[in-house]
Amino acid sequence: MRVDVVTIFPDYLAPLDLSLVGKARTAGLLDLRVHDLRDWTSDRHRTVDDTPFGGGAGMVMRPDVWGRALDDLLDEGSHLLLPTPSGTRFTQRTAERLATETHLVVACGRYEGIDARVAEHYATRSGVTVSEFSLGDYVLNGGEVAALVLVEAVARLLPGVVGNPESLVEESHGAAGLLEYPVYTKPPTWAELDVPEVLLSGHHGRIARWRRDQALVRTAARRPDLLDALAPDQLDAHDRAT
Ligand code: SAM
Repeated sequence: MRVDVVTIFPDYLAPLDLSLVGKARTAGLLDLRVHDLRDWTSDRHRTVDDTPFGGGAGMVMRPDVWGRALDDLLDEGSHLLLPTPSGTRFTQRTAERLATETHLVVACGRYEGIDARVAEHYATRSGVTVSEFSLGDYVLNGGEVAALVLVEAVARLLPGVVGNPESLVEESHGAAGLLEYPVYTKPPTWAELDVPEVLLSGHHGRIARWRRDQALVRTAARRPDLLDALAPDQLDAHDRAT
C-alpha cells in the first residue's frame, strides 16, 4: 500500500519511522511518503492560507495550493482523506476498509481548515474517492495527529505487519463487536492482586468462556452502545444470562 501525507509540519509525522509502522516501511509492506505542502506554493513567503470570505476569526487554507499538491499526488484509484472535526467518525471498520485499498492520500488541515471546494472538486474527479473523517468530538490544532492515527490503525491490518495475526482476532472493536477482556501476565500475584484462577487452569474451554463473559461485562459497563448495536445472532443464551 502507498500512503502520501501532505502537511505544513512534516516533522510531526516522524513517529511513523518507529515501531511496527517503521518496520513495515523498511520491509516494503508500506510505502509511506510525507510531503511539505509549502513545496507547492508559488510566492516568496510560501503562503498556504488566507483570510476567510465572509469574515470571522482565523485563516483558511488556500484551495489553489492544495490543488497543485493533490493534482500531483492523486491518481486513478486513489482515496483522498481529509481529517476534520465535521467528518464522519473514524472507526475500526473504516480502518479495515482502507486497509484493502492501494493508495491513500491524507491532507492535513491547519488553522480553520481547508477551503471547502477542495473536497467538492476531488469528489467529482473520476477514479478518486474522497472521505472527510473525524477522530472524535473534539478539536485538534491540525490534521497531523489524525494522519498518525489513521496510518497506524490501517498499517497494523496490512498482511505481515503484526507478527502474529491471531492477535488481531479478539481485539476490541473486532468482529465480535465487543471490548476485549482484561489481560494479565506474570507474576501471578502483584500488589496483593491475584490473576483470576481460571487463567492458570490450562482449561481452554473455561478460559474462552471466562474471556467472553468478561468482554460482555466490560462492554455493558463501559460501552453499552456497542452491545445495543449487536445483531441478535451475535449473542448466545449464555451471553444473555451474563
Ligand atoms: N474550524 C474547524 C471546525 O470548527 O470544524 C476546526 C479546524 S482545526 C483547528 C484544524 C485542523 O485540525 C482541521 O482542518 C483538521 O485537519 C484537524 N482536526 C481538528 N480536529 C479534528 C478531529 N476531531 N478529527 C480530525 N481532524 C481534526
